[in-house]
Amino acid sequence: MPIFEYQCSRCRKVSSHVVLNPKHRERRLCPDCGASRLKRVMSAFAVVESEASRLANFDTSKPRDESFYRDSRNIGLWAKKRARDLGVDLGTKFDATVEKARTGKLIKDME
Ligand SMILES: [Zn+2]
Repeated sequence: MPIFEYQCSRCRKVSSHVVLNPKHRERRLCPDCGASRLKRVMSAFAVVESEASRLANFDTSKPRDESFYRDSRNIGLWAKKRARDLGVDLGTKFDATVEKARTGKLIKDME
């Protein structure tokens, strides 16, 4: 399930939105101030995207050092934690995807 994070250009708050069809530009509103100008930011769920787009979307302003991401086991952990925080049921398919990501198989599959 693709979940992207958007930053409000008015109040700067970041909110998560489920994007069912990326080609369809849905109207997203900031849950805090109601503004409609939201800018996409790096998401923990970027692990399911290709490596190229993960790099393109990498947000260096996030206070996390590189070594965190170099250990691929952290990717699955963080994504799972975020999902739990958001109350999202990722299902067993996600577990398999995380497992692939951890072992590096996912990146190989996409090359
Ligand atoms: Zn806002």
